[in-house]
Amino acid sequence: MSPEEFRRQGHAAIDWIADYWAGLDDLPVLSQVSPGDVRRALPASPPETGESFDALLADLDELVVPGLTHWQHPRFFAYFPANSSPAAILGDLISSGIGAQGMIWATSPAVTEIEQVVVDWLAQALGLPEQFRLTDHGRGGGVIQDTASTATFTALLAALHAASGGSARETGVGSTKWAVYGSSQAHSSLVKAVMMAGLGAECVRSVEVDAHTQAMDVTALERLLADDIDDGWTPLFVQAAVGTTSTGAIDDVQAIAEALDGVGAWLHVDAAWAGVAAVCPELRDRILAGTHLASSIVTNPHKWLLTTFDCSVLWVQDRSWLTDALSITPEYLRNPASESGAVVDYRDWHPQLGRRFRAMKLWAVLRTYGLEGLRAHIREGVDLAAYVAELVGEDDRLELVTDPSLSLVVFRHVGGDESTLSAMHRLNASGVAYLSHTVVEGRAAMRLAVGSWRTTREDIDRTWAELQRGL
Ligand code: PLP
Repeated sequence: MSPEEFRRQGHAAIDWIADYWAGLDDLPVLSQVSPGDVRRALPASPPETGESFDALLADLDELVVPGLTHWQHPRFFAYFPANSSPAAILGDLISSGIGAQGMIWATSPAVTEIEQVVVDWLAQALGLPEQFRLTDHGRGGGVIQDTASTATFTALLAALHAASGGSARETGVGSTKWAVYGSSQAHSSLVKAVMMAGLGAECVRSVEVDAHTQAMDVTALERLLADDIDDGWTPLFVQAAVGTTSTGAIDDVQAIAEALDGVGAWLHVDAAWAGVAAVCPELRDRILAGTHLASSIVTNPHKWLLTTFDCSVLWVQDRSWLTDALSITPEYLRNPASESGAVVDYRDWHPQLGRRFRAMKLWAVLRTYGLEGLRAHIREGVDLAAYVAELVGEDDRLELVTDPSLSLVVFRHVGGDESTLSAMHRLNASGVAYLSHTVVEGRAAMRLAVGSWRTTREDIDRTWAELQRGL
């Protein structure tokens, strides 16, 4: 592709994206294809000679779009949002265009230093405790990772390294009986991190939750800790969930930290979805209370903060915890800047070596929306969820399962699981909206998570009318 052709096709690609966004409202939110449909529509082998890019663009509407579930649709309410925005898309495109690989400072100083600044801007925007920020006098810092799963895995590796006095990276996990704690509602990425670290899933303690709030029962945690210590286990890592996936429950981080007093375990806060809502000062106390006592915290701008997937930010109170655990320097990466100690090499802050210029899209989002714009976006989601909760309250056939949490509403049919799930399936099959389900205290529930900047009250009304038709 010549530079001129690239320019022409680039315009065409942006036009296609703009048209796709403009037409989303008329598409069924949930893809209607059957397994194998997309594969069967594609040639079995690659073309022997190159085709014009026009041919690929021409296939998008016919072959790709029907096989998509439209995450940017204004009535996508399933799981948690993975919302994108025009600013983030352009930032991501520029990052691809630059094509830099920022594994170490020397391979592109701007990739590292813009990330340092942007992550620190986000820490300020959320009002994170000072100790997480990258300052000349402090020890903290943040890094952009692909996902919260990787961030939690990274934090666990750092915890293991520190708790083992550095021996884990040399001689493995050894014979110490490490124990890891999260509530029964903790995200599955916690168990996966434990499995990947070679600790074995059996070392994870599933701490009971309060039946009403679904937040961790800290007394139960204290009991488990005491029993484990008596039985010769070493508490290694405790994960507090700020915004659980199922119901948006918020664990009491302060109380969990107090329960860990004298225990010495690493406290990690998983605020993957809810954390970015701290950009609104009125929500901050609820989200950040007690986080000054945590060792690490993760939140995903790629969920609710308009930053195209993937972009997850992990902060730690002491950046040397990461670098001590993960740094390894083969000869070919040696360079004067790294050896001077004056620069950050982000390769030492996560499992992989290579890294994209993800800060570009977050930089674009923070600059284009400004904090005012981001606050307005979060508040809109919270207000619309409150409206959904009102609608639930007005229909005798439905009931709230938990109090709405930020922009998430969890509710069910009073007639039982089958009525709940069939109403949700009918709504999803209609194509009008897409909700997902969960199980709370053994009973099925629907989750409606608002997140798109394009969702309006009319979208909620349309969804509601369709849901009620199927009740
Ligand atoms: N933690 C929570 C609370 C989540 O809700 C999710 C995903 O929805 C994750 C972690 C994992 O996120 P990621 O896809 O970034 O790994």
